[in-house]
Amino acid sequence: MSDQPKSMDEIMALCKRRGFIFQASEIYGGIQGFWDYGPLGAQLKKNLRDAWWDDVVMTGCRGQAGPDGQPIRIVPVDSCIIQNPKVWEASGHLAGFADPMRKCPGCGHFVRADHLWDLLAESSVWFNDLIQVFDPHTGGIDSPRLLQWAKSKGKRLAPNLALVRQPEVTLSWLATRVQGQPGVPPDMKELTRYIATEQLHETGLQEPCPRCGAPLGEPAPFKLMFESYAGLTQDEDNKVYLRPETAQGIFINYKNVLDSTRVKVPFGIAQTGKAFRNEVTPRNFTFRSREFEQMEIEFFCHPDESRKWYEFWRDWRMNWWESLGLAGVNLQLREHDADELAHYAKTGAGTSDIEYRFPFTAPGFGELEGVADRTDFDLRQHMEHSGAKLEYFDQERNERYLPHVIEPSAGLDRGVLAAICEAFTPDPDRPSKVYMKFHPRLSPIKAAVFPLVKKDGMPEVGEKLRAELVRRFGRLGSIDFDEKQSIGKRYARMDEAGCPFCFTIDGDTMQDQTVTVRHRDTLAQDRIALDAVLAYLGEKLGL
Ligand code: ATP
Repeated sequence: MSDQPKSMDEIMALCKRRGFIFQASEIYGGIQGFWDYGPLGAQLKKNLRDAWWDDVVMTGCRGQAGPDGQPIRIVPVDSCIIQNPKVWEASGHLAGFADPMRKCPGCGHFVRADHLWDLLAESSVWFNDLIQVFDPHTGGIDSPRLLQWAKSKGKRLAPNLALVRQPEVTLSWLATRVQGQPGVPPDMKELTRYIATEQLHETGLQEPCPRCGAPLGEPAPFKLMFESYAGLTQDEDNKVYLRPETAQGIFINYKNVLDSTRVKVPFGIAQTGKAFRNEVTPRNFTFRSREFEQMEIEFFCHPDESRKWYEFWRDWRMNWWESLGLAGVNLQLREHDADELAHYAKTGAGTSDIEYRFPFTAPGFGELEGVADRTDFDLRQHMEHSGAKLEYFDQERNERYLPHVIEPSAGLDRGVLAAICEAFTPDPDRPSKVYMKFHPRLSPIKAAVFPLVKKDGMPEVGEKLRAELVRRFGRLGSIDFDEKQSIGKRYARMDEAGCPFCFTIDGDTMQDQTVTVRHRDTLAQDRIALDAVLAYLGEKLGL
């Protein structure tokens, strides 16, 4: 397999062409940070959500025992998107859930402070043009060429960049302060800061706007929660927030769950649902959206046992993603460094990310799921803010305590995107030039039935087989039926949709009651008995 990252443009084009993912409000020009799922995408997303639900909730980690040797108990909830705003006060989101933002005084553009260098490299037109002018052989600084750029292209591409507004002054800073060394690649961050700075002594080094080059303002917090009003008057008293995570809906129902079921610590509560964040720079397709879906588990355990449960969940979740076909080399488990720990995580408590190498992050990785030991932070906060008693009386230990919580928090949309990127397999030898190698469990179309020609009784046999397959497998995905076009075109369509098996009815079927099974990944064609198709597909789908 080639080491070249797959082309995100090609992946996005296929998603639109075949109905996986569309831009939201597309006919009105779209809306940034929002995406809709089409027929194939909606089923793919449901299959991933169902896989999580079945494996985590219904079967308690597929029936595996926990580190205490006991079955794992998980129960579901489905809480509201809008809650009493005090929930967000207690959780810390109202005070702290903000990204550091920098405003551009030149064009009014907002830039997320911690994304600046990525944005320059990924999407700034002027930056990508200017780096061609830096010369690695002289350590980057080629004043005459930079001057020429500033007076020509620079004027159009980065009108507010110091290098463009005051080229002589800026270049003189550069020449005296930055000592380029021949043969050493330039330190682009340092050079960029100099060319963004007009008055070095007054302002210190500046950093430029990726759009127009003006020096960016100081970082200021930008609230990430969407606001609305519940009630007739649109005033502070009626202000509400769209949840930025599903986790808090679990914590606030923890006592209800304990009182209404027979669960005992250790146990987990799981929930899937929409979350909303007014992300400053939504980008990379659905990876960073403003509306997205999470799949979260809060697992409550005795404080002394949090480490072993943390390790259990971290490893189990990693294996789970692998079991759905995300290749080992594209997945990594990354333990956080101490300075990355979130406000709730105690020093020494585990926090790790399960990351996938997306084409747009390669060779780096992007977060799919976070697994964190949240200690008793959330329950304690809600206990203090609400006055409710959330301590747990453990009859076996004869002890009262506030449980600690391990949180595996996964993004469904990021999971779908990873599955799509992983499945996307260029193959110049196929008519479709590409096929989607989904794990059969995730494939939105589970099988296709193709009568070779529309006569000689083949459509009737095919229709009967289709009806049987729908009855047995229809709840897992669709069963395609197509009797038009050449068989090659029909296979090509299924390859792009990621359908793992096509069953073709031909002249021989009418004689000997066998069909051809065509395998998406190997292109192999086997002959099996017509009445064995159901059992065959069931086995391949792992049922
Ligand atoms: P990031 O650092 O990428 O912003 P995060 O650490 O803030 O993510 P969490 O708060 O831990 O994310 O949310 C849990 C999961 O929810 C993430 O692992 C990710 O899969 C998903 N998620 C978070 N923000 C977004 C988003 N804007 N769009 C899509 N999925 C998201």
